[in-house]
Amino acid sequence: MLDIQKIRAEFPILSQTVNGKPLVYFDNGATSQKPQIVIDAIAKYYQEINANIHRGVHTLSQLATDAYEISRGKVRHHINAKFAHEVLFTSGTTHGINLVTNGFASILKPGDEVIVSSLEHHSNIVPWQMLCEKTGAILKVIPMNEDGELIMEAFEALLSEKTKVVTVNHISNALGIINPIKYMIEKAHAVGAAVLIDGAQAVPHLKPDVQDLDCDFYAFSGHKMCGPTGTGILYGKEAWFNKLPPYQGGGEMIKEVTFEKTTYADLPHKFEAGTPNIAGGIVLGTAIDYLNSIGFENIQKQEEELLTHATKRLLEIEGLKIYGTGKNKASVVSFNIDGIHPYDIGSIIDKLGIAVRTGHHCAQPIMNFFCIPGTIRASFSFYNTVEEIDLMVEAVKKAKTMLS
Ligand code: PMP
Repeated sequence: MLDIQKIRAEFPILSQTVNGKPLVYFDNGATSQKPQIVIDAIAKYYQEINANIHRGVHTLSQLATDAYEISRGKVRHHINAKFAHEVLFTSGTTHGINLVTNGFASILKPGDEVIVSSLEHHSNIVPWQMLCEKTGAILKVIPMNEDGELIMEAFEALLSEKTKVVTVNHISNALGIINPIKYMIEKAHAVGAAVLIDGAQAVPHLKPDVQDLDCDFYAFSGHKMCGPTGTGILYGKEAWFNKLPPYQGGGEMIKEVTFEKTTYADLPHKFEAGTPNIAGGIVLGTAIDYLNSIGFENIQKQEEELLTHATKRLLEIEGLKIYGTGKNKASVVSFNIDGIHPYDIGSIIDKLGIAVRTGHHCAQPIMNFFCIPGTIRASFSFYNTVEEIDLMVEAVKKAKTMLS
């Protein structure tokens, strides 16, 4: 059993008041809060070893380089990548996905097909659309059912020898549905397609094993898993990273430059042009250590309790509908109340100290499917409590009374 109060004390922001009320932070899907150990590690980097990496022979540069590469090793271990050079530092999931779509621009041919799911975040739709426009490839979409689950028969029917890439999120940000990615990867590979998994919403809740999943790419953001903003990881199989062209040109990604021809550096540097977010990359390793010290089994147990409690308590409210009623779910509840705009509920409960996200959650196709402008999304983390959920439920009831 986790000592939640002890854990909460490690997150300074959680003891704040907002609008005169104790903060109840349920917008973890947008970004997680940061424990003191992560905040301190950022300051420590700048106070003690700030220097550019991979460049100088001087001591600080070496210390910074070592810390950065140690962090890459931690990520590699955490996701069980075969090689450290299969782990690229990025600025976030969006960057990772764009790196891959940019690379596929030189691989796809007119008439090739790319399959995305109807549950995607815009950042895993738009780059693929741009790629299709550029190459003449065709975008196909896996439909979903009323429970917010992808329809596997429809997915399998879309697969053919024309399919070159399949991309799907591990967990949907708008609904919290956990997708059967291992099954989907197997099916996609059977027709020779590459698979990119958007793991942005999964990594705060579970430890992905990229070798067991056998995915070709797995992208995620550091800021949703207690790490700093502007950090992220793109895992890719060595063979794919060798095949894809570089994303950005610049310093650090070259072997040799002449005006006639430039040769590129080995992995991972080929994809890491310019000075990266050094502090962020190092501290992402600190955040991963922190989450592992809590333990993902413990995290899941706590979050399951929160999800069960929130679902039960919210459904006590008349006229409240939850979207994403599929069985396999992370700790996210997306809901609306009959006849009331989600924004109005969100604004009122904010005045009561409750932070939730309202709107389309960068997943407009899901909102279109349900014919709604948006939802109220409460997304929980292991540092949240059942008592906070009760406060939210009371706040939502109050808002409903005021707005009815
Ligand atoms: N995919 C999913 C499923 C997300 O939830 C998010 C963030 N909301 C992203 C991609 C984009 O992540 P980032 O903004 O950190 O690049």
